[in-house]
Parts: sequence; C-alpha cells; structure tokens
Amino acid sequence: MIDALPEKGVPADQILAELRELRAADLPTHGGRLFAYVYDPALDGLDELARAAHALSASVNGLDPTAFPSLLAMENALVAAAAKLLGGDASTVGSVTSGGTESLILAVKAARDAHPSLQNPRLVVPSTAHAAFAKAAHYLRVGLDVVPVRDLRADPAAMAAAIGPETVLVAASAPSYAHGVVDPIPELAAVAAERGVRFHVDACFGGWILPYLRRLGADLPPFDLAVPGVTSISVDLHKYAYAPKGVSILLHRSEELRRPQYFAYADWPGYTMINPVISSTRSGGPIAAALATLRSIGDAGYLDLAASTREAVRILAAAVEATDGVRLYAPPETSVVCLASAGVDLFVLADELAARGWHTQPQMAYRELEPTIHLTVTASVRSTVASFASDLSAAVEAARARGPVELPPLPPLTPEMITPEFIAVLAEGLGLGGGDFSRMAEVNTVLNAAPPALREALLTGFLSLLQRPVQGA
Ligand SMILES: *Cc1c(COP(=O)(O)O)cnc(C)c1O
Repeated sequence: MIDALPEKGVPADQILAELRELRAADLPTHGGRLFAYVYDPALDGLDELARAAHALSASVNGLDPTAFPSLLAMENALVAAAAKLLGGDASTVGSVTSGGTESLILAVKAARDAHPSLQNPRLVVPSTAHAAFAKAAHYLRVGLDVVPVRDLRADPAAMAAAIGPETVLVAASAPSYAHGVVDPIPELAAVAAERGVRFHVDACFGGWILPYLRRLGADLPPFDLAVPGVTSISVDLHKYAYAPKGVSILLHRSEELRRPQYFAYADWPGYTMINPVISSTRSGGPIAAALATLRSIGDAGYLDLAASTREAVRILAAAVEATDGVRLYAPPETSVVCLASAGVDLFVLADELAARGWHTQPQMAYRELEPTIHLTVTASVRSTVASFASDLSAAVEAARARGPVELPPLPPLTPEMITPEFIAVLAEGLGLGGGDFSRMAEVNTVLNAAPPALREALLTGFLSLLQRPVQGA
C-alpha cells in the first residue's frame, strides 16, 4: 500500500525507486512481445526526446491559446500534418483530443448538434465498429443502430437500409480494431452522401499506417478525406504515429462541419469558456511529445516503420498458417493478425503464449463471430518475430496437453445477480484474489460463455472490486 500523502515529504530518489519497483509488475512496453495497448517503433533515443518535450510543456494549459500560443501553434501543426497525410485540403480543419474515444465522442456530438430540432438523433455503425461509438451514443443519448457485417466488413446495402430520417451520422472503420480489415469506405461514403448524412471514418487505429502501407503497394481501398462523402476522420497519434499516450486528431472536411463540436458558455461570473474538446484544462505535455515524435521520425521514417510492420505481419501470419491447431480468422491486410482455433482451446493457448513471453489479446465470441486472439503488430515486432513460429507451435502443443477449460456447472446468472459479494467470491474462486493475472483461461472461458450484458456486469463488478483505496475493506 502506497502512502500518497505521507506526514512528511519523501526524498526524490526514494520516490523514483518506488515508482520503478511498481512499474516492474507491468507488461513490457518495449521489446516487441506485447500485442496490444502499446505501440513501439524501437527507435533509439525517441523515448528520451518525447520525454524531454513532454516535460517542457507539461504545465502549459491548453485552455487558453491567447495565454499559451505555443500550444496553439503545435496543435495547428499536428492538424496540418494529419490533414496532409489523410487527403485533406485547404478547407480541412481539426482538433487535437486526448484519444480515440474523445475524437469519436466529438464526431458524434458535432453530428448530433448539427440537428438541434431532432428528438431522437441516431448513429449507424457496422457491428465491428469500436466500442467507443457505443460509449458516445450512451453519453450523448444518441440512438445506436448496429448493422451486421459481411465477411467482417461493413455491408453498404445493409448500412443504407439502416439510415432513417433521424440518422445524424454513419461511421465505419479503416481498419477495424478487432480484425484489422478496412471497411468499403468509398461505397459507404456514397450511401451516406446520397442521404445527406455525415460520414465519419474511424481511422483511430490505422490512420497513421494505412497511407504508408498503400504507398508500399498494399491492396487497400481509399479511406480518407479524398473520398467524396467522408465528412470527418479520426487518427490516434498514440497508436501508429508512436507518440506517448494522450493524443488523437479529429479532422472535419470544413469549418462549418466542425462548428457544432465546440462548447461555449458565458452565462456565469467567471471567464467565458470556449472548449473545442471535452477537457477544459489540458496539459501541453502529450501535444509537445507528439510533435517531437512526428518531427523526429518524419515521413520517410514512418514509411520504414510501416515496411517493418508489414514484414512482421507477414511472418506472424505465415506462422499461424503453418501451425496445426490454429488458423487465420481475418486477412492480415493491415497491422493486425487475428487467429481462431482449429482444434485448440484459444484461451488456454493465450496463457501458454504468455508463459513464453508473447502477450496477446483474447477476444470473446460475439454474435456469429467466434472467439479469436488479436495481435496488434508494431514495428518493434520485426526484430523479435523470428522466434514466434516455434513458440506458437510449442504453445499449441502445451494447450493440447492441458486440454480445454472445463467449467464447473455455474448457476444461471443475470446481471442483477452480480453483487459486490458475489464478485468477491467468484474472483477468489477463479484465483484472481492475489493479483496474479497470468492464468486467465478460466476467467476468459467464464466471460466468453456470458452474454454481453452479463459480461459487462461481471467486468464492471471486478474493476470496482480492484478500485478500492483500502484493499479488503
Ligand atoms: C483505439 C481505438 C479507438 C479508441 O481509442 P482510445 O485512444 O483507446 O480512446 C477507437 N477506434 C479504434 C478503431 C481504435 O483502435
């Protein structure tokens, strides 16, 4: 237990030593063996540069660009770079946000508030769209129409059929997070434009690598603002731009389209608040770090990183195809490798891969889609990937030897039954009491068997159990 407010201040050396000790329990953010959460270009000196830039601007407040013009200049530079990379022109404008979720919430807000007279504004997305759209719909009280996909891609005819008089926004992914496949953006944008509805491209994940993959010759459809009918696009700089966490960009085709994104309020005794994004006070740290990262890597550098990533994807996908017991679930056309079972328990396999130092992301069954293992591939994987194939086949063998997870019969559960007491007992029973999360197959099997609403209740309960200031109280 850390005492965050000690009676007397603690020496700096000791504090930093304690922080390093805490960090030692985390998964490795470098080394090309963690296939989710982190994006590593494995470039010497980049971390140090980004850290120094972050420190320079950490105390600067993005609330007021007249007080801190440095941040305004940096934000305009980042938006200009994104617009140039993503098919923008002289009328393209944008905002720097804290992440993909914020960019998507703001895209939905701008679309909703462009139609103030609509009683029940609605959003149309394919079922593979990122969960952040559901969060945006929930926060903003916008109806969500989820359209089934066809071969993991949005189906333009089905999406068109879902557009109604109250639809304020249609959205799709380039590519989807779960499977890494690109939706047919030109067809979808045409469908939305024909109905006079805004169309957002969620390129949060791949927006900073797709243009380079296309330059390298990958067979990918156009997906950006150059496509007629695309009205906005989002790209996370803390993903394939390899910037430290906390920066995403939301671009709009025109200033008029961006206007309803802003919030202004003068009806109180303090300063007039004019916020383009959700936060009001904002640290300049992530913005300066992102700018430093982009300028250090440069266009040619990103092309090299994309080439390394593409090669790593090719090697990983070939390893999956060559291994008896698993198979590719989605075409490895971008920077994701997504595999499914061909006779092995996937959740046991994920544990066995983790035991060999490969940290992947299990994905649960969803509607007609089976459970899969997701690998977000970044440039650093290129130098470690050679040993993946043998570890994969060893992990498959070990998973076969362990056998599939057999759950004891569980009582039929409903979300209402998930009380804090129930969660505490379940967590203990599944071996999660001690904070060791290395063997997750049983947990994942329980979650996989649960319908979405129950899964949500179980994980909410579990997170709430973890997030207590005094453990065991
Ligand atoms: C990561 C991601 C998001 C959400 O971004 P955060 O930065 O985690 O908030 C949205 N869409 C896609 C496709 C993503 O991959």
